[in-house]
Amino acid sequence: MPDNCSVMDNNLQIFNSLVREKVAFKPLFPPFVGMYVCGPTVYSDAHLGHARPAITFDLLFRYLTHLGYKVRYVRNITDVGHLENDADEGDDKIQKKAKLENLEPMEVVQKYMDNFHRNMDQLNTLHPSIEPRASGHIIEQQQLIKEILDNGYAYVENGSVYFNVDKYNTKYNYGKLSGRVLEEMMSNTRDLECQGEKKNSCDFALWKKASPEHLMKWPSPWSEGFPGWHLECSAMSSKYLGEEFDIHGGGMDLKFPHHECEIAQSTAAHGKESVRYWMHNNMITINGQKMARSLGNFITLDQLFSGKHDLLAQAYSPMTVRFFVLQAHYRSTMDFSNEALQAAEKGLQKLMKAYGNINKLKPGKSSSFDIEALNIKCYEAMDDDLNTPVLLAHLFEGTRYINSVADGSGSLTETDIIKLKNLFGTFMFEVMGLLAENTGENNRGTIDKLMKIIVEIRQEAKEKKEWGTSDKIRNGLKDAGVILKDTKDGAVWELES
Ligand SMILES: [Zn+2]
Repeated sequence: MPDNCSVMDNNLQIFNSLVREKVAFKPLFPPFVGMYVCGPTVYSDAHLGHARPAITFDLLFRYLTHLGYKVRYVRNITDVGHLENDADEGDDKIQKKAKLENLEPMEVVQKYMDNFHRNMDQLNTLHPSIEPRASGHIIEQQQLIKEILDNGYAYVENGSVYFNVDKYNTKYNYGKLSGRVLEEMMSNTRDLECQGEKKNSCDFALWKKASPEHLMKWPSPWSEGFPGWHLECSAMSSKYLGEEFDIHGGGMDLKFPHHECEIAQSTAAHGKESVRYWMHNNMITINGQKMARSLGNFITLDQLFSGKHDLLAQAYSPMTVRFFVLQAHYRSTMDFSNEALQAAEKGLQKLMKAYGNINKLKPGKSSSFDIEALNIKCYEAMDDDLNTPVLLAHLFEGTRYINSVADGSGSLTETDIIKLKNLFGTFMFEVMGLLAENTGENNRGTIDKLMKIIVEIRQEAKEKKEWGTSDKIRNGLKDAGVILKDTKDGAVWELES
């Protein structure tokens, strides 16, 4: 494992969405790294679409930590201000759900945030260092609005505050991240019906005046209202990571308008860009289709783990899902299907089995495989923009070594066996965050089968009046914590509680 001294000269290349190419990762203040990732809006159960960014940035967090960096990983919880559509119209998603379920908005938030956290723990993603909530940072958001107003990049209209995109674009470039051109966006929306209070259809809300029936609202210099959705990430990232920080991540679908607006807000407030490396994971499709509730192909993580969904042929364990996500590069599209998940399940089992077999290998006098070369290749794969499919290919190469030493067609010295075990430990568990899954259900299945055999053997012994054998089996089982009872329908057993 690299030590802290080598952190300064890491070889990590990451794809920076802002410049659209792979670049060397050089943090502002090594060995510290500041990383902000857009978290969920907690108004419904976590689904497959949440798993990919969570696993992608968990992988990055783990790898940077493994390289020796001290990472402050901030992932927010959106609990207010995310409206139903991007044009600052419609109901707040959480408030809408609160009305539907007859709950307080914060009850909705608690319920789905707990669900998200439970699912993330099942997927073995590490907790972020800080998980700030939008509703807990209203003052910081209002402060940011004041700065943007003072700098002349926003205007107040009827108690709401809007970001002046046109004005911003005369000095900076609105659209630089998403590659959109403001003039084109404006001409596309020019003919739309009345844009209400906005001077320009591309302007976006920093603060919205609340209607009397709106539930989540706070006093402000402009009106009783609530912050615009994009604002929280600018306010909370600069609060916890500084006005300039290293990495900002999120799903590709957030590039526009969310991240574009974040860049504009931070730049308008501070006079400079805040994020040095933008990273975006690609989306997951379901059997080739976009995932959407209206298409009936919306699969929550709980459904995936239990198998309870019409599209699922079986339940898939959290580690199968994690392995499935890691099998594709984070910038590639990936399609969910039962076949793909079943293949992931097999692949994971193969890898785990090989790892388990390393301990059983008998050391030879020489090595027929170059373990150090394999180790270097694993680091090269991770350094190449977190290329987990290539990393997995190298680990499968390692399983080939293990199998051939086991069947005697190859050999490894004792030192190389230890190196290989460390290599698997580092990349499978520490970096990729996989876990050996021995679920109670799996164990139970095996126990059921074994007990069936034992009970049959004892029954045969009894029929032959071999009482010594039948007593030996019953007493032996008792010592192992299994209680056997003879009934008129034959022997039944239960585990001692
Ligand atoms: Zn965000």
